[in-house]
Amino acid sequence: MKNKTLLNVLIAILLAVVAGLTTGPETALFGVPLIKIYGLIGQLFLNALSLVVVPLVAASIITGMARMGTDQSFGLLGLKTFGYFILTSLIAICVGLGLALFLAPGTLGTLIPQLDSMRLNEVAPMLQSDAFSKVEQIVLKLIPSNILAAASQGQMLGLILFSMVFGYFISKTDAHAASVVLGFWTGVFQIMMKITHLVMIALPIGVFGLVAKALATTGIDTIASVAWFFGTVLLGLAIYALVLLPLLLKFIAGVSPIAHYRAMLPALVTAFSTSSSAATLPVTLECVEKNAGVSNRISSFILPLGTSVNLSGSALYVCVGVLFIAQVYGVNLHGPSLILVVLMTLMTSLGTAGIPSASMFSIVVILSTLGLPADGIGLIMAVERLLDMFRTVVNVFGTSCCAVLVARAEGESEIVIHPEPVASE
Ligand code: ASP
Repeated sequence: MKNKTLLNVLIAILLAVVAGLTTGPETALFGVPLIKIYGLIGQLFLNALSLVVVPLVAASIITGMARMGTDQSFGLLGLKTFGYFILTSLIAICVGLGLALFLAPGTLGTLIPQLDSMRLNEVAPMLQSDAFSKVEQIVLKLIPSNILAAASQGQMLGLILFSMVFGYFISKTDAHAASVVLGFWTGVFQIMMKITHLVMIALPIGVFGLVAKALATTGIDTIASVAWFFGTVLLGLAIYALVLLPLLLKFIAGVSPIAHYRAMLPALVTAFSTSSSAATLPVTLECVEKNAGVSNRISSFILPLGTSVNLSGSALYVCVGVLFIAQVYGVNLHGPSLILVVLMTLMTSLGTAGIPSASMFSIVVILSTLGLPADGIGLIMAVERLLDMFRTVVNVFGTSCCAVLVARAEGESEIVIHPEPVASE
């Protein structure tokens, strides 16, 4: 991202804060509510980003897999990737758990005590069925019955697996056919990257629309009422993304965290304004490959996959959210119930899509599994959209760190060597 573009984005965010906070739901221009205009601008930008995701992901994985079809070490790459996904998600969840227990944000306001006597052990059978159906849903998404239907509904897991298999078998086809098919998909990949550049020109305008709408909808007063919850999540995200992930980068990958932040800046800004790691994926791919210097072989495998199964910032948020709601209802979770929360958070984060507000569904699932009223979710609704922006940034950053860690483990040495991020056009 050129400095000028970055400056434009910062100006857009400032303007959006002013516009969002001074606009009420009724404020109108020529009879059209301003909030709708912000929404339209934001939605157009979001659509343009989502538009490129499916062909970009398919082309990027197919070309990457075709090239590594002869590579025997692929299984190991998958193992390392999932190892880092689970490690970073668990770290994030533990940070959330520790803070929610220590700061106990749900005990500061008025309690809703009707569930005091609840015995959580009695819900174990319910957990089993819910856990099974959750796993079942994930597994079924891996092998959809119709790949075009899955792609048209943006179901990334099926698309990723199909593209991997498709790409792998290109390398096993006869040379002429393979070069034609690979040439086609390489062309699609390059064209989609160029379209992504084009969309990025509109980034400041899109950021303005999305941030202004989020603030105009939420307002500053409602935020104040759940300020402690808001603060706890932000603190957790900061500890995870500004302290723990950098430590992994520095001491395991031997990469400068500052240089990596700079490399990822365009993706982080896009994640913040779109609240969607899936929509941010084209920019993330570009940053990790061009700015951070991770090979296409690794980034085209890890990043699309991470967008579907490695939302570590969301996992932290879900964990704090569940504990906060339990605390507000006067339920003290401890011992096995806490382990249950950790496991369920990890599991649901595997199935959370990288789209706005997806974590709300995870919270509802966990609440009802624990026997807590699912409408407790209303307590955190006021700050949901704002926190979504922050946790999406962390999701994108977390997955990019996994890409760097795996690239290092695979012996790549050219990572984050640029003192300045490479300018995107
Ligand atoms: N908005 C998040 C993302 O796209 C998912 C969530 O936590 O709701 O990464």
